[in-house]
Amino acid sequence: MGFTKTPIKCEACGKRIPSHEPDLVLQDIKGLRHGEEAGAGAPRFFHERCGKAAVSVVLGGPGGHVLTTRSVDEGAN
Ligand SMILES: [Zn+2]
Repeated sequence: MGFTKTPIKCEACGKRIPSHEPDLVLQDIKGLRHGEEAGAGAPRFFHERCGKAAVSVVLGGPGGHVLTTRSVDEGAN
């Protein structure tokens, strides 16, 4: 029933992120610049409550990362 959606897993805890929960998207800047490099620019997803782990990746990594918070679309009608 309904439409099939690719399940998004949290990189921090490994559990699925329900579509009704806001999530954090971590995108490697290298991937944005060199989109042809498979895997390098694959976005990583985190629970909002697991965002600390995402931030530590950003701070600990040598390169740049883009961290985006996606809000839940409440008024989707
Ligand atoms: Zn999580």
